[in-house]
Amino acid sequence: MNLFTESNLSPDILKAIGEMGYESPTEIQKQTIPFILSDIRDLIALAQTGTGKTAAFSLPILDMIDETSRKIQLLVLCPTRELCLQISKDIKNYSKYMQNVKTTAVYGGSSIMDQIRSLKDKPQIIVGTPGRVIDLINRKALDFSAIHWLVLDEADEMLSMGFKDELETILSETPETKQTFLFSATMNKEVERISKNYLTKPHRISVGSINEVKKNIKHEYYVVGYRNKKEALKRLIDANPNQYSIIFCRTRMETQEVADFLMQNGYAADALHGDLSQAQRDTVMKKFRLKNIDILVATDVAARGLDVNSLTHVIHYSLPDDPEVFVHRSGRTGRAGKDGISMALIKPEESRKLKQIRSTTKIDIVEKTIPTGEDIIKAQVGGVFEKLLTEHEDIFTFDDSLIPDLSNFTKEELVHQLLQFQLKDLALYYKDKHDLMEQKLSSRDDDYSRRDRGRDRDRDRGRDRDNRGGDRDRGRDRGGKPRRKNEDMVRFFFNLGKKDQLKKLDVLDIINKATAGNSKKRAEIGDIEILEKFSFFEIEKSFKGELLNNISSMKFRGKDMRAEEAN
Ligand code: AMP
Repeated sequence: MNLFTESNLSPDILKAIGEMGYESPTEIQKQTIPFILSDIRDLIALAQTGTGKTAAFSLPILDMIDETSRKIQLLVLCPTRELCLQISKDIKNYSKYMQNVKTTAVYGGSSIMDQIRSLKDKPQIIVGTPGRVIDLINRKALDFSAIHWLVLDEADEMLSMGFKDELETILSETPETKQTFLFSATMNKEVERISKNYLTKPHRISVGSINEVKKNIKHEYYVVGYRNKKEALKRLIDANPNQYSIIFCRTRMETQEVADFLMQNGYAADALHGDLSQAQRDTVMKKFRLKNIDILVATDVAARGLDVNSLTHVIHYSLPDDPEVFVHRSGRTGRAGKDGISMALIKPEESRKLKQIRSTTKIDIVEKTIPTGEDIIKAQVGGVFEKLLTEHEDIFTFDDSLIPDLSNFTKEELVHQLLQFQLKDLALYYKDKHDLMEQKLSSRDDDYSRRDRGRDRDRDRGRDRDNRGGDRDRGRDRGGKPRRKNEDMVRFFFNLGKKDQLKKLDVLDIINKATAGNSKKRAEIGDIEILEKFSFFEIEKSFKGELLNNISSMKFRGKDMRAEEAN
């Protein structure tokens, strides 16, 4: 099937998608449409956002839906409100000429009463986030008895967001006779487990995933120590003018920290992460879509809801654990036939992780050196001309009589002078800056505790920029004994540090209080490291849930406490 007109889809659907400009099916649509139309097996489809997967499952289902019945026949579960709205909007567009088909989106952060009212319309299609669907099940507002199709969209994300229990409840609340389609960008153990338990002999297809890394994306990596990471990031941004990019971080706190750093340095940047309210997230996304900001610093999960096709760069400020997430992140650029660049900042001790990403994804990631001030000025000059030749702005007008006699200058002299004005601040910033010392990947991998301890030590000693000598203590703990990673312990990132007058004894006290509910046993406490703005501590894994539950409602010297698992 090379054209939609060659498919067996009904004329109403063909008319609607024709108006939307869809002529040929995408790869995933070529595979799923005939399958769903003719097969009764469950399906696992490995596909990323942007491959056309919404149409891939919804077009054949719309073709088969019973318009005369007003019971729910299709339930689509997805991780975020944004995705939920996007999918329901797409389905509404595809079913524009199917007058009796109704679609309702249900998601958290919005009035449940309004949603219950809209369910009175008796939609045949529900698109929802797992949490809100469970709330509605509990209120007996949803009747799942006639469900034919259940779609788990971005299953990996739903699981990594902690929706495991909700998914399992919904999967077991829906009729056994349903056909389940699981879509996921990555296939990890959790997704495999859900598939094994809830899907029956699924047919598998894979599109645009790891085996099909986009060829139009250039991959680069830059080795830089922790202390210089933000400065290196600044240089990468400066050396790539006119960029429209997403910077990926691992934790919410890191995301906020990096965004704050960029904003303080005058960049049009902002943060997108789960600690923001829904309204704040909407505002940031809107600003980014409208290009009021051109750099978005985001966690993997928060960036999911965002659908932009014109990113020039993706920057991995921190590497993800899962190589497929690396591919997925990078695939946010190089869309719609454009070229893209993916740049990763790699700490010297992350060689094993890089190796793993390279070997699993088969991506050729090329090592580059952090740009010098001179490289940056060159790139900026190029950027000015690129803008000059491609964008013609007429924001204000002025009379030519205001231009004095310039005949004593050559064209080049004039351009030189104007560029001096334009790039003055940047040139002054880099004038006295040393180049960032070239670093090499270390052949040995550290675990986090050692690395963080080295980092703390370097800070305390005010060690120079290149972390020289940082290798000396590697692999030893403070007493000089070889250090072993303890699998029974979990490490937390804690939002308070020396600046909050936090001492080790305070941390012990906080941990004891937060885990006091478990009267049988006290939590074993491992390393505690108090840094300037935040800290790390380790406790026994079995106390993790209790600690996380309690700590967010505790205060230290009037300040809210927040902990999250460090990676
Ligand atoms: P999705 O992966 O479902 O988020 O779709 C990505 C984008 O591709 C959406 O903007 C869709 O409207 C668009 N799209 C999906 N299928 C096609 C198609 N066959 N032809 C053109 N555009 C499509």
